Amino acid sequence: MKHFDDFSRPLEYISPMDKHLRTVIRKWADEEVLPFRRRFDEDWKEHKLIEPAFDKLMGNKGLGLQKALFPEELGGWGLGHSDSTFMTSYALSEEVGRADTGMAVAFLVTLWPLTTILIEPHVNWRLAKEFAPMFCNSDCAVFSALTMTEPQGGADIENIGLLGGKTLRTTARLDGDEWVINGHKLWPTNSAGVSKLFGVPCTTKLGSSDLDDFAIIFVPTDTKGVSEGNPYEKAGMAADKNSDIWFEDVRVPSWYRAHGPVLDAQTFVEVIPWGQVASCGFLTGAMLNLYERLYEFVSTRTYCNRTLKENDAVAGVIGRIAGDIDICRILGHEAARIGDRRNMPFGNELGSEETIAKIRNIKDFISDKSVEIFGRAMDVLGAYGPDREWDIEKHWRDVKIIQLWMGGKQLCQMEAARYFFNCKTL
Ligand SMILES: Cc1cc2nc3c(=O)[nH]c(=O)nc-3n(C[C@H](O)[C@H](O)[C@H](O)COP(=O)(O)OP(=O)(O)OC[C@H]3O[C@@H](n4cnc5c(N)ncnc54)[C@H](O)[C@@H]3O)c2cc1C
Repeated sequence: MKHFDDFSRPLEYISPMDKHLRTVIRKWADEEVLPFRRRFDEDWKEHKLIEPAFDKLMGNKGLGLQKALFPEELGGWGLGHSDSTFMTSYALSEEVGRADTGMAVAFLVTLWPLTTILIEPHVNWRLAKEFAPMFCNSDCAVFSALTMTEPQGGADIENIGLLGGKTLRTTARLDGDEWVINGHKLWPTNSAGVSKLFGVPCTTKLGSSDLDDFAIIFVPTDTKGVSEGNPYEKAGMAADKNSDIWFEDVRVPSWYRAHGPVLDAQTFVEVIPWGQVASCGFLTGAMLNLYERLYEFVSTRTYCNRTLKENDAVAGVIGRIAGDIDICRILGHEAARIGDRRNMPFGNELGSEETIAKIRNIKDFISDKSVEIFGRAMDVLGAYGPDREWDIEKHWRDVKIIQLWMGGKQLCQMEAARYFFNCKTL
């Protein structure tokens, strides 16, 4: 059997940490996830099986990955000032995604709101010092969430280029030296009581599209006035809990705002490529695992006295599947490369219309391919496709979810149209 690492990667620009990180995460996946993964679906509410695996991935008694972005001086790994932060995040997303994309999103979303205050050139040292002990001194997994989506629509909130945050209904009012936050959020990864910290996109002036009024404010989840619902029961991704969150006259210090007028909006725009690149990694990770399982299936089952893979009709399908995985993996790395500023081929900022459009476009493309490939693999497996024993149906349910989140397909298409066709109203 070929190794799944034989699928193409641009070896000349992967991160120097890539090999080491992938080795330790594969070991973690083999020991802590793969033997139990099939029982994760039933554990969606309790996380009795899932939690210990998170502790070993994220907490100090394991790999300690939750502190990766914090500066070394504060006990972290300093990934926030690396030249290959995106490429490293991509490798992490792919490796954890190969094991379980639900775990991958819960882990990477913990770093997500922190990118707004820990990545150079936008490091907020006061907040970094404030939150470092929470993440760097814990043996167990500590989660955070980025609470963007609201009942009236998440895509519009992410569409800051056109709407400038004017549909946000979560408000922040300055009262002396405190922000007072009111609002209702839906869906954030790591809600339903999982997180210790929320990054809350909100507005300081209801209905305003002035970027001065867009704010990201950090809220420890034990603050008075924060409440959360029960986890939603989803098609898959049991390791990620999602629910409603309500903020009712929630008070936090005024300096818990990420930066201030304009820069909050800018870091929010920059947060989008992080989510899209990580999504690409989750998807290619799941596809690598598909290859492993599919290889075993077509090499052991027979038709006309020959292994399945030696039949023309099957070979045509699995050859195309492998070819698509190869191309998607190259594209996923390209999205990460666009993100890493040292390699920025366009000379643009991370939040530019071009960067946003191109990275969203790659994510949309890989999502579609992934949904298609898993569908085709199900066809090859026939009755074994829906059999949990083969793990394909698990990823099949999960990759569909990845295709739909972060503004859905349409926002990806709108942003590509806006950039390539100079559309003004999308
Ligand atoms: C597993 C999971 C994890 C998630 N994690 C998070 C998280 O961490 N944080 C968070 O804030 N949210 C999270 N979400 C929510 C997700 O990002 C939103 O569901 C998504 O952004 C779409 O928002 P919406 O559901 O409000 O749909 P809406 O914005 O109401 O969109 C409804 C429909 O309209 C389409 N649409 C949107 N814009 C346009 C347009 N311009 N033209 C045409 N059609 C359009 C959409 O694609 C969609 O099909 C998560 C969702 C899931 C399923």
